[in-house]
Amino acid sequence: AKESGRNTFALYREEMQAISDARLQMEKALHHATEFKLFELYYQPQVNAQNGLIGAEALIRWKDSERGFISPAEFIPVAEEIGLIVEIGHWVLNEALSQVAVWLKEGKWQADWRMSINVSPIQFQQAGFLPMLTEQLAKHDVPTSCVDLEITENMLLNDLSSSLEKMHAIKDMGVHLSIDDFGTGYSSLKYLKSLPIDRLKIDQSFVRDLLTDESDEAIVYAVVAMAKALNISVLAEGVETLEHYDRLKELECFYYQGYYFGHPLPPKDFIKSFVQDSNT
Ligand code: C2E
Ligand code: CA
Ligand code: CA
Ligand code: CA
Repeated sequence: AKESGRNTFALYREEMQAISDARLQMEKALHHATEFKLFELYYQPQVNAQNGLIGAEALIRWKDSERGFISPAEFIPVAEEIGLIVEIGHWVLNEALSQVAVWLKEGKWQADWRMSINVSPIQFQQAGFLPMLTEQLAKHDVPTSCVDLEITENMLLNDLSSSLEKMHAIKDMGVHLSIDDFGTGYSSLKYLKSLPIDRLKIDQSFVRDLLTDESDEAIVYAVVAMAKALNISVLAEGVETLEHYDRLKELECFYYQGYYFGHPLPPKDFIKSFVQDSNT
């Protein structure tokens, strides 16, 4: 018994060692990728009830030379922990705005479409966030009304009054604000009312089982009713089938994003697949 106990412990130590090695490797690779800007942005369409484009969400992609594509769900949390997210977030904003500027110039992006850009709580809470945003908006030839920042509910918990101040400043610039992954966080109805936001994105976990789980249906119904009362629009994430789309429409949710409408794609493929060749 003693023997096997020792072996178990040795095994455990080896495993822990392997995990921390992998973590260190990931951090090193992430530093490298950030320094040499080895990221790309993919774009996923956002549509209305007529299946017409209303914008896109920019989603970061990292293809490591050895490990291939690494999911942002895996590396963004690491980047947040080691602080690299601030630099990565800056890169994302710059890249997405450059892309919109180019598409506007080429007549491929309409003035009433919005580019949704994810902002990490860590990035948002930086004192330098507003100056950085202001500088980026001045640098790129993009109307602020074409920009939508996606933030999560939980980022507001830390320091509500300073977050609120920032959100109002962002709204005053004409930039739109959305709450991402809505329903998974802790925001109370009380302060939802006080937030200057344009849109709630219902988390895909509620959409996934919409057709089979009555409580998810009730949640979507309630979110839509509440948003309507507060004059906020609602976009459903993770819409994968026609059945989901139809049910959401019946529940009076009129904006959507998901594989049913299109996967995230590199810029050229996004335009080819979702934008009619109108004038170029
Ligand atoms: P998110 O912001 O909630 O983005 C939506 C995720 O759902 C994306 O995963 C997207 O590819 C995926 N998705 C879209 N439609 C469907 C669908 O119909 N079914 C399913 N099952 N999934 C769908 P992705 O691109 O892997 O990103 C994962 C998360 O990583 C994002 O979740 C976001 O939290 C984070 N992320 C991605 N890009 C950025 C970025 O530029 N900055 C920051 N801070 N975070 C980012
Ligand atoms: Ca998002
Ligand atoms: Ca989301
Ligand atoms: Ca998410």
